[in-house]
Amino acid sequence: MESKLNIYNTLKRKKELFVPLNPPHVGMYVCGPTVYGEPHLGHARPGVTYDVLFRYLKYLGYKVRYVRNITDVGHLENDADVGEDKIAKKARLEQLEPMEVVQFYTNSYHDKMRALNTLPPSIEPQASGHIIEQQAMVQQILDNGYAYEKNGSVYFDVEKYNKKFKYGKLSGRVVEDLQSNTRVLEGQDEKKNPFDFALWKKAEPEHIMRWPSDWSDGFPGWHLECSVMSTKYLGKKFDIHGGGMDLLFPHHECEIAQSTAANGEESVHYWMHNNMITIDGQKMGKSLGNFITLNELFSGNHKLLKQAYSPMTIRFFMLQAHYRSTLDFSNEALQAAEKGLSRLFAAWNTLNKLEASDKSSFDVQALKQKCFDAIDDDLNTPILFAHLFDGVKFINSVAAGTESITAADLEELKKLYHDFIFNIAGLKDELEDVADGENKLDEVMDILLNTRIEAKKNKDFATSDKIRDLLKDAGIIIKDTKDGFEWQLK
Ligand code: ZN
Repeated sequence: MESKLNIYNTLKRKKELFVPLNPPHVGMYVCGPTVYGEPHLGHARPGVTYDVLFRYLKYLGYKVRYVRNITDVGHLENDADVGEDKIAKKARLEQLEPMEVVQFYTNSYHDKMRALNTLPPSIEPQASGHIIEQQAMVQQILDNGYAYEKNGSVYFDVEKYNKKFKYGKLSGRVVEDLQSNTRVLEGQDEKKNPFDFALWKKAEPEHIMRWPSDWSDGFPGWHLECSVMSTKYLGKKFDIHGGGMDLLFPHHECEIAQSTAANGEESVHYWMHNNMITIDGQKMGKSLGNFITLNELFSGNHKLLKQAYSPMTIRFFMLQAHYRSTLDFSNEALQAAEKGLSRLFAAWNTLNKLEASDKSSFDVQALKQKCFDAIDDDLNTPILFAHLFDGVKFINSVAAGTESITAADLEELKKLYHDFIFNIAGLKDELEDVADGENKLDEVMDILLNTRIEAKKNKDFATSDKIRDLLKDAGIIIKDTKDGFEWQLK
C-alpha cells in the first residue's frame, strides 16, 4: 500500500516521503521513561504523540512493531557519567529494593498511559533484562576500535569515530566545538576527551546495581540500552526512532554513534522529536515549583491548577499543537480545550442523529481530503482538528435545517469523524464512559433484585436476606416498594 505520510527527518532538515518497507511493516522505537518517579506532563507528550503515529500507521494498514523501553538501570544523576543511579538513589531514600522502585513507577506509568488512551507498545523491554546483549555490543565496539578500556570502565572514543563517521549529525554539533565548550568534570579524567561517553562503568563499592563483566563488576552506560534493544527487536536498520527533544543530544547522538560503530552503518531511517512543555511560559522543573504530575493534573490537586483536567482533555489539548512546537500549559488553555472537546463530541452525537435528504450542500470528499492531507503532513493534528471543526459547523447547520446532506454523504461523514476522532486521534467520550458504567450497574442491579424477589416468592428468605445484607455491605441500600424495589448508593 502506498502512503503519503511525511515524517520530518531531523537528519536532513526537510520533509521526506515515508517509504514503506517491503513486505509492508514498520519498525518504531521510542525512548520510554526512567522509572524513578511519578509520571508527569513530560511523559504524556511523547506517550500521546507516538500513539497517534502508531494508530495512524496501523490505520493505513501497516504491520507496526512499536518498541518502547523502560530505563531501569544506568541513568545517572544529571544524565552524566558520574553520580548516583537515579533508581538506586530513590531506592536508598525510600528504603526499597531498586526493582521495587522500578515496578511501582512502571505500574503507575502504565496506569497513566492507559488513562490517556494510548495503546500499549508491541514490546516494552527493560534495560536490566538486556545486560548480556549490552555487554556484547560493548565488545563489538571495542573490537571495531571505537572504544577503550580504562580502570574497568569502557568509553566510546568520539574523536576516533568522528574521523571515519561524522559525530553530531543529528544535533549539528561538531567535535571541535564540543572540545572547547566542555568543562572537564571531576571523576571524568579517565576519559581521553571530556565528550567521550561511558559504555560500561565500573561500579563503586557502594553502587548496588551491578553485574559481572570482562572489564569489571559494573553497569551499562545510559545511552547503550537503546542501541542494543532497538537492534535486538527491530534489526540493524529500522524506520522510525522517536523521543523527546531533550534526548536529541547527547542521548540520540550517542545512539547513532554506538549503532554505527558496532554495525558499520546507521540504523535509523527517520528521527522524530516531540518538543517540550512549558507551564505558564516557564520550563517545568522541580526547583521552580511548577512540576505537575499526571496524578495532580487528573485530580486538580496542585497549587497552580484551578480544577481537575480529565485525561481526554489533556490528550486533546496536546493534539491541538503540532508535536514539534513547544506547548504551553495554562488553566485558560486547558479550559478552552475542555470546551472544544465537548463541542466535538456534541457534534459527533448530533451527526449520528442527522436525517438525510436528496441533496448535499457540503463537499464531504473535499473535507476528507483535507483531513488526510493534514495528518499526512508530518502529523499536523492542529490543522486536522481545524478542518474537523469546520465540519462541525456544517453538522450543526444540518441539524438546524439550514443545510442538507444525502444518505451516502452522511455515511461517509460518519465514517470520517469516527476514524479520525476515535481510531486515529485516539479520543473517547468520557461522559459516555460514565453513562455506560451507570447503565451496566442498573442492569446488574435489576438482575440481582429480581432474583431476590423470586427468592421471596419461593419463601427462600435466607437467600433474599443474604442478597440484601451483602448489597448493604457494598454500600447499596434497597427499599421494597409496592410494585418492586428501589435502590440507592449510600
Ligand atoms: Zn533512548
